[in-house]
Amino acid sequence: MEKTIYIADDSAVTRMFITNIVKDVPSVKIFEFTNGEEVVTAIKRKIPDLLILDSVMPIKDGLSVLKELKDLNFNLPIIFCTADIQSTTKEKAIQLGISEFVNKPIQKDIIFDKVNMLLNL
Ligand SMILES: [Mg+2]
Repeated sequence: MEKTIYIADDSAVTRMFITNIVKDVPSVKIFEFTNGEEVVTAIKRKIPDLLILDSVMPIKDGLSVLKELKDLNFNLPIIFCTADIQSTTKEKAIQLGISEFVNKPIQKDIIFDKVNMLLNL
């Protein structure tokens, strides 16, 4: 069965990088979003099997997206990506229910393995 992945990151280069990695995962459909507002709107329409979420984005950042999804009681696997070395950001994200955490710059093997694991492939 086809799995849906949403990638939300304001950097076109990063979106392309992640897409190029996860497109090798069998039977996935990938949708890209450039900010938190866009991806929340899309999730309200259809909940993906996995969300790969950037921390720092314009309009609505990653932590705000997590808060909103929690308030809406949306439960979905989320990989949170950040270059933020402050542990408070990571702690907040964990409290808000992320499944996995990936440090930026993203390493190919790490995100590929986490995507496979969270999609139960
Ligand atoms: Mg960013």
